[in-house]
Amino acid sequence: MRQILVAGNWKMNGSTASIASLLDGIKAGMDKVQGNVSVAVCPPFVYLQQVASALEGSKIAWGGQNVSSEASGAFTGEIALDMLKDFACHYVIIGHSERRSLYGESDEIVADKYAVVRAGGLKPILCVGELLEEREAGQTEAVVAKQLDAVLARNGVEALADGVIAYEPVWAIGTGKTASPEQAQEVHAFIRAKIAKQSQEVADKVQILYGGSMKPGNAADLLAKPDIDGGLIGGAALKAEDFLGICTAA
Ligand code: PEP
Repeated sequence: MRQILVAGNWKMNGSTASIASLLDGIKAGMDKVQGNVSVAVCPPFVYLQQVASALEGSKIAWGGQNVSSEASGAFTGEIALDMLKDFACHYVIIGHSERRSLYGESDEIVADKYAVVRAGGLKPILCVGELLEEREAGQTEAVVAKQLDAVLARNGVEALADGVIAYEPVWAIGTGKTASPEQAQEVHAFIRAKIAKQSQEVADKVQILYGGSMKPGNAADLLAKPDIDGGLIGGAALKAEDFLGICTAA
């Protein structure tokens, strides 16, 4: 039985004050979240210290939204894995579609980042997913397969066993359009079957989250699907009530 993970991606949102109240709200509702559900939040880097102090000793983990593939040096504006470790991060989101489309991250860069996160002992949350035109052209599986293949080629299948994959159809991110539970399950099953061709054991173990306008109202139906092991949540992670609504629907 795989553990469910609900992870909030706060993107470039929040302030010291709003994050303090969001964390208070989430912590206050955690007693209603069942034992097989783990919860994590990924704030902007500059708030990691605040989040780490507020969540230390709680059941909520935290992580970064990105990491450099380099260890240190002249890389202005970048954040190294060791820096995330300094703030006791547990997870790092890798290859979010916004990183791929707005900042030019290729499948190869994402695969390198996956390796860096694992080598540092943290858990990557690897995002994959297709654009609307790719779905409409019947290319969803080919696109997701290519994104996964780069990580598999660089890291080997065993590297996925303790990682997390987030299937995030790009057309559903921040748009209010959610993939139907059937559409999501179809791609999740494809991902698991693809991994199973290399290792059934890894396929059984890897957590595959869904991301794309998941909300309290649609979470239960999505999470009821056999291959959906949780959610990566953007907009709805910014309100304690909504985020907890998803955590308790799981
Ligand atoms: C995301 O950005 O990872 C995401 C799933 O966003 P949203 O929930 O707002 O669609």
